[in-house]
Amino acid sequence: MITIDGTLGEGGGQVLRSSLALAAITGQDVRLFNIRAGRNKGGLLRQHLTCVQAAAALCGAEVEGAGLRATEIVFRPGPIRAGAYHFSVGSAGSAALVLQTVLPILLFADDVSTVRIEGGTHAMWAPPWPFLEHSFVPALSRMGVDLDLRCEVPGFYPAGGGVLLATVAPGRPEPLELIHRGEVAVDAHAIVSALAPRIGWTELRTMRDALGLGRHDPPLEVERPVGPGNACWITASFDGGACVFSAFGRRGVRAQAVAREAVDAFQAWELANVPVCEHLADQLLLPIALAGSGRFRTTEPSLHTTTNAEVIAAFTGQRFTFSRGAAHDWEVALER
Ligand code: ATP
Repeated sequence: MITIDGTLGEGGGQVLRSSLALAAITGQDVRLFNIRAGRNKGGLLRQHLTCVQAAAALCGAEVEGAGLRATEIVFRPGPIRAGAYHFSVGSAGSAALVLQTVLPILLFADDVSTVRIEGGTHAMWAPPWPFLEHSFVPALSRMGVDLDLRCEVPGFYPAGGGVLLATVAPGRPEPLELIHRGEVAVDAHAIVSALAPRIGWTELRTMRDALGLGRHDPPLEVERPVGPGNACWITASFDGGACVFSAFGRRGVRAQAVAREAVDAFQAWELANVPVCEHLADQLLLPIALAGSGRFRTTEPSLHTTTNAEVIAAFTGQRFTFSRGAAHDWEVALER
């Protein structure tokens, strides 16, 4: 049995999610302890518990110790089965992070699967829907992954109620090389749900002014809001991929300041002249490890990324190298 100490690296939820996926895929039992010890509210929160239950459902795993705020579990996976799955976080906890757990597992199922995940789709500290749609899914498509992903209903913090729908065909990912960036085309977007539309307009104006964009589409209005919420984002597309830089409206923070967060993140990436942003970097490690080969250029790897690399090494023995090029330019490669 593999033992993973949850204080590893960042000590957050990624250690859990990557461990669950890799345990199921490699068929190895795992004991995780000190789960999310690096966080203020440690242990399994709703989103993390849903990840455990979802991973278990996909491979008929026997699980010991799972419950809200649990800090230790044992996960004994069985064979991965295709199916029509439905998981609900039951809060605004991220549906995307549940997807992050189940998607790699279903690539090793025996047939096509569908997954419906209810939870937050546009929330902080997790990949928001525009990032999945424009950055993550296209990167996986380049790796030959057959995934159809839709956001049926957007869900914001705190009400949640968003829905992601995925159809996944099995197949090992192919190696990925994302080294050059070339010309970048940018777009600014905002979404407002059950809040004053001027919030979205202000964000759009701020982002367009900063990026030198002309006026175009209005912010997307949500037709069936489950609760109030707001997000804005910049999509930066280039030959071979795209990055999405998002920010989320919240009480006490002016719309201009929210938009500025997205602009600052975009400009840091633009300056580095690399194709992969900080978040896409940590999310590409697992697919590349499953492919057995790959490399990309990115900004300075986050603790999140290096932590993920350590979890991958613990399960598979595969190691990533992180080599610094120019000031903000790093190359991440899977060692052969
Ligand atoms: P914890 O609950 O322990 O804080 P968590 O389970 O909420 O952790 P993290 O371990 O912090 O989640 O991982 C968050 C994931 O969401 C990472 O894969 C990260 O790249 C991704 N993420 C966070 N913010 C963004 C963003 N703005 N755009 C895209 N991806 C994001």
